[in-house]
Amino acid sequence: MSNETFRQEVKDWLAENCPPGARGDGQIPTGSTKIVLEDPDTKLWLKRMAEKGWTAPTWPTEYGGGGLSTEEAVILLEEMQVIDARAPLLGMGIRMIGPTLLEFGTDDQKQRHLPKIVRGEAAWCQGYSEPGAGSDLASLRTRAEDQGDFFSINGQKTWTSGAQYADWMFALVRTNPDVPKHEGISFMLLDMDQPGITTKPVQLISGSSPFCETFFDNAIAQKSDLIGKVNQGWSVGKRLLQYERSGQGGLAGSPRLETGGIRGDLSPMDSIAKQYVGENDQGLIADTDFRDEVIRHHMNSHSFKLTQKRVGEENSFGKTLGEATSIFKIFGSNLARTGAELKIRLMGTQGHGWEGEMFSDDELESTRTWLASRSITIYGGTNEVQNNIVAKRVLGLPD
Ligand SMILES: Cc1cc2nc3c(=O)[nH]c(=O)nc-3n(C[C@H](O)[C@H](O)[C@H](O)COP(=O)(O)OP(=O)(O)OC[C@H]3O[C@@H](n4cnc5c(N)ncnc54)[C@H](O)[C@@H]3O)c2cc1C
Repeated sequence: MSNETFRQEVKDWLAENCPPGARGDGQIPTGSTKIVLEDPDTKLWLKRMAEKGWTAPTWPTEYGGGGLSTEEAVILLEEMQVIDARAPLLGMGIRMIGPTLLEFGTDDQKQRHLPKIVRGEAAWCQGYSEPGAGSDLASLRTRAEDQGDFFSINGQKTWTSGAQYADWMFALVRTNPDVPKHEGISFMLLDMDQPGITTKPVQLISGSSPFCETFFDNAIAQKSDLIGKVNQGWSVGKRLLQYERSGQGGLAGSPRLETGGIRGDLSPMDSIAKQYVGENDQGLIADTDFRDEVIRHHMNSHSFKLTQKRVGEENSFGKTLGEATSIFKIFGSNLARTGAELKIRLMGTQGHGWEGEMFSDDELESTRTWLASRSITIYGGTNEVQNNIVAKRVLGLPD
């Protein structure tokens, strides 16, 4: 089928099947069976897209995906953007463990896990960081001991985003403490609904609890859920991080570019900036230096979007660039932080509201987005660590 015919088919299908409530701002499911989807349109959109396999457009059809080529997936995204359709499903299943399983999983593992991810029937969390193992992740100490048919797991993870809503965890665990640290780590999947796992949400100053401490007390991971070989999990875990950073750098393919829940294109800035910078220089910002900052941010945003698009088209869409994803993670997260900061500076005192009738919903949201934006240069590996990766692995500079 020619690309033009495919585009017309997509257009027609979207016109008929994307309900009004799935367009514009709103909830995007993560696949959790523990979070109720209140809005019927969001539910319907997920169901319809999952039936087409278009929640994971490039994954093979045998695992529930759409089986689309790179070019077709780009067309689908473009047409979703035209009607401002939200992604039907996001989260660590689609973005992180799914692509990793496609690369490293056995056929049985793919059959068991991928179709559920595509249908939004399983939410995942990431069990990497521990107290004492963040940037130096390979120092992790959570122990997994071989018990014949299964591994028995004891220890603690921390900052586990969404663990309280997750059905499954992918985790890095120590299977051999007597070898150099990178060589004694395995990558395994754990069912979160078992007595050996306890999650304790960490409450933030904002009152929300986006992540947890997670405790393992003789928790169980089945042997069939070991990904790759025992003690060789480090390379699987690193690859997953590249998928994570692709998402943060806007390379993973979402109709509205997202950088860790904060829009990479910062479209909310657009309307505000128009009002303040104004057409023909007649806007409200008197300070020319500040006006320059806003304009520079817009130019950077647009150039970044074009670069993401070019890279997406040049590389197999949905795959990653390897170590070079760190460049996108650094630039995208800095951009999102700058955007959130400029936005509240533009709003003046209205940009610092926490509650109360004197603030609009958008103003209240801006304060929270600004606070949340502080974290995106940290998770998925801090930007300082990404700088090291770019220096060593991309530019080949000496250690
Ligand atoms: C919002 C959020 C969500 C998260 N979600 C998850 C999750 O779901 N699962 C999970 O496993 N983890 C998660 N994390 C944890 C995250 O991956 C770690 O916070 C991150 O890797 C940094 O580790 P750390 O906090 O221990 O900081 P540290 O490693 O202690 O670093 C402290 C500071 O030292 C700097 N530093 C450390 N080493 C170097 C170096 N070699 N060169 C230069 N500078 C260095 C760092 O850049 C940082 O500024 C999340 C974190 C946040 C903020």
